[in-house]
Amino acid sequence: MVAIATLGSHCALQVLKGAKDEGLKTILVCEKKREKLYRRFPFIDELILVDSFKEILEQKCQSVLEENKAVLIPHGTLIAQMSSEEIESIKTPVFGNKWILRWESDREMKEKLMREANLPVPKPVMEPKDIEKLVIVKRQGAAGGKGYFMAANEEDYNTKRNQLIADGIISKDETLYIQEYAAGVLAYLQFFYSPLKDELEFFGVDQRHESDIEGLARIPSEQQLKSTKVPSFNVIGNSPLVLRESLLQDVYEMGENFVDASRRIVSPGMNGPFCIEGVYDENAKFTSFEFSARIVAGTNIYMDGSPYYSLLFNESMSMGKRIAREIKIASETNQLDKITT
Ligand code: AMP
Repeated sequence: MVAIATLGSHCALQVLKGAKDEGLKTILVCEKKREKLYRRFPFIDELILVDSFKEILEQKCQSVLEENKAVLIPHGTLIAQMSSEEIESIKTPVFGNKWILRWESDREMKEKLMREANLPVPKPVMEPKDIEKLVIVKRQGAAGGKGYFMAANEEDYNTKRNQLIADGIISKDETLYIQEYAAGVLAYLQFFYSPLKDELEFFGVDQRHESDIEGLARIPSEQQLKSTKVPSFNVIGNSPLVLRESLLQDVYEMGENFVDASRRIVSPGMNGPFCIEGVYDENAKFTSFEFSARIVAGTNIYMDGSPYYSLLFNESMSMGKRIAREIKIASETNQLDKITT
């Protein structure tokens, strides 16, 4: 039988608990500084202790994973801490499509795939001098919103960028990505596509709580105006959301379009969990500013099952358990090559 491995951060607890519930061996690649935390959880069978997650590229780590026939579940920490080249060079089978992770990390590739999927994306702004409406300025990769800022015009952009450089939060030669700010209700739509069943499942929705933009919204405008700090969008946690049922048809359509586009552009396509992230405006029209081509930490809310999965499964089913179920079935029916890269 196969084992399930992941990096100790992000959604590791949910992933390994789900794997254990499916009767699979669980392995955590764990930074030494977090050993004490993860030892608290009895469903983790084996810890591979490392100083840095990059050690999963080393022979020592890879042979333990190989001996256990491990499948590695990629998540946000893998993307944040390793380059696309490093991720692509991982020898351990990666659940889903490791090639699509590059499309998540690179802003231009990301936008291309989103357009191919017909997702309504905010207008990109090429140069700071072209800023006409409120924009959000982002960094490359899964920076988790740290160092992002909003700007109303070129001057505002330059002031804030310079301040963040002076504070050591972004670097001088970093390429920043500017797009129009979309206002509305945040919704992070979580899906799972099963290549074994050729079926798209809608799992749930979450909202992110981001500091310190959220803190700023809690103080009166008088104090807001006096604040000179550039607020960031650093994710602190997530909370659940359910959508008006009349929105579900469009949600499935967006998910299906994304799966189809990914299949055309980056073989073998969008297999496994993914997330389409955006906002609903006053007309319930969705604008999508992001996607994640792997499990998102927002699924941690539903460790005991999500509202939408309780409609599809007559048992509590977390995203971690859903992943493990897919791997288990693939392993039993000799189809692991269909769900890993
Ligand atoms: P991202 O890294 O693109 O997921 O962005 C981090 C956070 O910035 C999101 O969770 C949103 O709160 C916010 N954000 C990003 N892009 C936009 C946008 N175009 N309009 C409004 N908010 C945005």
